[in-house]
Order: sequence, then C-alpha cells, then structure tokens
Amino acid sequence: MLTIARKFSFNAAHRLSETVPEGHPCSRVHGHTYKGEFSITTTQEPHEFRGMLVDFSVLKQLLKREVEDFFDHKFLTSDASTDKKGTVILPIDPTVEYLTYLSTVKMYFALKNTLSQPTFEAIASLCTTLYETERSWGAYSLMLPVNTEDALTEELSSIKTL
Ligand SMILES: [Zn+2]
Repeated sequence: MLTIARKFSFNAAHRLSETVPEGHPCSRVHGHTYKGEFSITTTQEPHEFRGMLVDFSVLKQLLKREVEDFFDHKFLTSDASTDKKGTVILPIDPTVEYLTYLSTVKMYFALKNTLSQPTFEAIASLCTTLYETERSWGAYSLMLPVNTEDALTEELSSIKTL
C-alpha cells in the first residue's frame, strides 16, 4: 500500500442544532480553525504508475476548490431557515464527523472528473482527517470502487450555499 497526502486548512463558523441539547456550548454559534489532511492510497507499486500517482499541484488545486474555498469563512448549519449570505446549509449538523465525510466525497468526484481513467482506477481508498481543535479530530475513509455514487451525488446536490 502506498499513500500520498496533502494538508489543508480553513476557518468556519458553525452551530449544532440537532445533535446536542439546547444550552450545550456547541448549540451556540462559534468558530474553528479546521486543519486537515487528505490522502490517496493505492495498492499499486510505483513502477505501475510511472513513479507519480497524482501530481501534488493537482491535489492542491482540487483541495483549494472543493474544501478550502467551499468552507472558508462560511457559516455551516443544518438549519434551513437561515437566509444570511455566506451560509452553507447541510443535510445534517456540521459535526467534524460529517465535515470529514463530506470533504472526502467532494474530493472523490473532483478526482474522478480530473484524473485519467487508469490513474483513478489505481486508487484503493481516499481518506480525510480533520482536526476541529488541536485535540479533537475525525477521519473518514472511502473505499474504491464506490457503488453508491447516485446517493452521494444526490446528497451533494442537497447542499445549498447562500
Ligand atoms: Zn464547534
């Protein structure tokens, strides 16, 4: 198994409205400097993909577009009644569990649309590790090939950025 990875970061405000009781600190609007790492793992040996699996400049560009620019300086919420500009309305609460999952799914489609077919087929798994604070983090691994693409596409299309 061989893994390459790149770090990323963004600042965002959020509020948990469904997963914590009223009065819980996370039910109030607050912010985090999220720090993450996105990795691509293959079962192939380096000579099978001529030494470079995915160019880091491609990974940098996709992480910036799909994760950093998408979340940075936004207000993340599952409350669909919010109408303020800069709000991202998600299907469920913006917990670190959901954000790490969502980042991985967004990167899955971005890589699928960018990489050549043989390169994409060389990928065994994608993983995002996301730190909400220095001590609290979540990680999500997506095993390829994915056979629930339609459900994932539908989920992404339900997300609204105001
Ligand atoms: Zn929080």
